[in-house]
Amino acid sequence: MAVERTLSIIKPDAVAKNVIGKIYSRFEMNGLKIVAARMTHLSRIEAEGFYAVHKERPFFKDLVDFMISGPVMIQVLEGEGAIAKNRDLMGATDPKKAAPGTIRADFAESIDANAVHGSDAPETAAVEIAYYFPALNIYSR
Ligand code: UDP
Repeated sequence: MAVERTLSIIKPDAVAKNVIGKIYSRFEMNGLKIVAARMTHLSRIEAEGFYAVHKERPFFKDLVDFMISGPVMIQVLEGEGAIAKNRDLMGATDPKKAAPGTIRADFAESIDANAVHGSDAPETAAVEIAYYFPALNIYSR
């Protein structure tokens, strides 16, 4: 399997719960390396741009409001099959449907406050990584 990079965001609910370290250790224990990371409080413009693909969806405004409700932790994960591996570790979008032991099953409350974001395909991973990190701030190891 190829080494990939994927974009991960620990959302405001999980940052507020003080579980950044617990989520990072799941990445590390499953062969994903953190090769870039940054804590930030997104502006409305940044959050709307990031989720532009969802702008016609009924939940768009609530999603943006939630993503700017507190600081987030944004990271690039690198490893074999990183995109699918991170999605597996995250679990289903709705934590009630997420498999036991996944990040969303363990740390998320609801479909809108669902703890983490992860890129869903190589094309979106490339766009999302470039949205937050210039290439020179990614420290491939
Ligand atoms: N979302 C929501 N309500 C929905 C569907 C999605 O609030 O009915 C939010 C949720 O936070 C989700 C994000 O929109 O994580 C992006 O949706 P997507 O379908 O891409 O889910 P993901 O890839 O995050 O599992």
